[in-house]
Amino acid sequence: MRGLMMDTPLTIGSIARHVELYHGEREIVSVTADAPPVRTCWRDCMRRARRVANAMQTLGAKPGDTVATLAWNDHRHLEIYYGLSGAGYVCHTINPRLFAEQIVFIVNHAADRWIFIDSMFVPLIEKLKGQLDGVEGFIVMTDEAHMPDSSLDGLLCYETLLADASAELDWPEFDENTAAALCYTSGTTGDPKGVLYSHRSTVLHAYASVAPDALDLRSRDNVLPVVPLFHVNAWGIPYSAAMVGAKLVLPGPKMGDGKTLCHLIRSEEVSIALGVPTVWSALLQYCDDAAQTLDRLERTVIGGAAVPRSMVQAFRDRHDVVVIQGWGMTEMSPLGTVNTLKAGLEGLSPDDKLDLATKAGRAMFGCELRIVDDEGRELPRDGVAFGALQVRGPWVCNDYYKLEGSAGTHTHDGWFETGDVATIDPEGYVAITDRTKDVIKSGGEWISSIELENTAVGHESVAEAAVIGVPHPKWSERPLLIVVPAPGAEPDKSELLAWFDGKVASWWIPNDVAFVDELPHTATGKIKKIELRRQFADYAFPHE
Ligand code: ADP
Repeated sequence: MRGLMMDTPLTIGSIARHVELYHGEREIVSVTADAPPVRTCWRDCMRRARRVANAMQTLGAKPGDTVATLAWNDHRHLEIYYGLSGAGYVCHTINPRLFAEQIVFIVNHAADRWIFIDSMFVPLIEKLKGQLDGVEGFIVMTDEAHMPDSSLDGLLCYETLLADASAELDWPEFDENTAAALCYTSGTTGDPKGVLYSHRSTVLHAYASVAPDALDLRSRDNVLPVVPLFHVNAWGIPYSAAMVGAKLVLPGPKMGDGKTLCHLIRSEEVSIALGVPTVWSALLQYCDDAAQTLDRLERTVIGGAAVPRSMVQAFRDRHDVVVIQGWGMTEMSPLGTVNTLKAGLEGLSPDDKLDLATKAGRAMFGCELRIVDDEGRELPRDGVAFGALQVRGPWVCNDYYKLEGSAGTHTHDGWFETGDVATIDPEGYVAITDRTKDVIKSGGEWISSIELENTAVGHESVAEAAVIGVPHPKWSERPLLIVVPAPGAEPDKSELLAWFDGKVASWWIPNDVAFVDELPHTATGKIKKIELRRQFADYAFPHE
C-alpha cells in the first residue's frame, strides 16, 4: 500500500520561495571583487535571482543547459546559484585555481553555454578563449562602470543584463531528481571528474546539515562560509543558511586573508564560520600577531583535511570557540560525518574532549558508512581496525557525469569507495587515518601519515608538515617527515623527532626529517603528496 502524502518535489526553487517569504529582510553582507562591501538581503537576492533566470531565457538557454561560474564568494555568485538551478539550468561552478588545461577540459566536457566571470578572471579566459568550444558568451559580474577592456567576443555586463530582465517569475516545479549543479573534483591524477548534484540531493543534504548535532544552524546565526562557492557548493551553506534564514557574510576574494576574516567576524558578529584548516591557521596567526580575539564567534566548522589538535586547542583556549570537525568530499555534497558530543560523553576531561575533537565525527543520518579490508569484508567498529571507507546515501554520487560507470569507484552492492582509510570506534566516531594511496606500509603494518603530520604541526617551530612513505630495505617503507619551519625558527632534526616520543607508537616515529621552504598544494589547498613523492624520489634514509 502506498502512503497518502503529498509528493511535493524537493527543489532549490522551494528554498528560494521560503527564504524570501519568511526571512526576506535577513542580511547578506558581501565583500566584492570590484567595489566596497555590499549590504543586501535574502529578498533582494531572490529578486535578482529571478532576473538571472529570465535573462538566461532571453539569451536562449533551455532547461538542463549547463552554465558555468568562475567567481569568488559574493552576493552575485549567490544570486546566480539560485537563478540558474531554481529555473532548471545546471549551475557549473569552476575552481579558478585549477590549471588552465583543466579548466578547458571541464568547460568542454560539461558543454557550458555561458560563463559568469568575476572581472579579475577575464585575463584568464582571454588566454583560453580559442579552446572553449561551445561557449556562446561571457557575463562579467560587474556594472558598466567597471567593465574591463577585453578582446573577448560576446562579453556581457551582468548588471545591465539584470536591469534589462524582468524580476517576475514563479519558480517552476519539476522532478526533484533533475540536475541542479555540477562540480568537478580537482583529482591529483587523470582528468577531473564531474559530480552532478540533483535538487533532491541538495535539499536533503541541507536538511541534514542544519540539525543540532550537525551544524546546528539557526535563523539567529550569522554565517561566514570561507569555503568557496566554486567548490562543493561551499559545503551546501547557500542552501542550509537560506533554509533557516541565517545572515550570510561572504568574504569575496579575501578568503585566505586573516585580517579581513578577523574584521568580518568581529564587525558582522559572525557566530559560525566554516573553512579548511589552512584558512584557520592564517586567521589564528593574525589574531595572535594583532592581539585580537574573535568575540562573538561560537563555533568553527573545519573539514576538507585533518584538523590538528593544536588548532582545536587554540580556538578553545584563546578564543572560546568550539571546533566542529566535518568530513566529506565533492562526491558527497560534501558532508558525511560531523563531530559533536554524543550523550554519555559529557563527562570526558577537557584533554579527552580535545582528542575526540580531532576525529572526523559521527555519521549523519542519511550517510551510511562502513570500513572494509582488501577483500571487501567489513571490519569491526572497534577504533583499532583500519580499512577502506565506503559510503552510501541520497546525497552521495551514484556515478560521474558522462563516465557511465567507468570510474570504478562503486562496489557491486552500491557503495561508493571514498579513497580514504579510517577507523570507526564503538561510539561511531570515524578517524581518517589516510588517503588509500598515502598510507605508509611498514613491515606489513599501516602507519597513518595524517596522525604524524598533526603531531608535527603541534611543535612551535613547525609551520606546515607532510609525511610520505620512502622505500626501506628492511621494512619496505618508512615515514619521512617533511617540514616547513615556522618564520624565524631553525628546528633541528633530533629535537623534532624527540617531539613524537609518547605521542605516537614508537615504531611510527619518522626515520628522518627534511626541511623545505614550501610544500606543493592542490587547487583546493591540500598537500599534493604525489608531487612530494616525485620531489623525494631519489631520497634515501641515512644508514642506521
Ligand atoms: P579534492 O577532490 O580536491 O581532494 P574534496 O574536498 O572532495 O576535494 O576532498 C575530499 C577529501 O578530503 C576526503 O576524501 C579526505 O581525504 C579529505 N578530508 C576531508 N575532510 C577531512 C577530515 N576531516 N579529515 C581528514 N581528511 C579529510
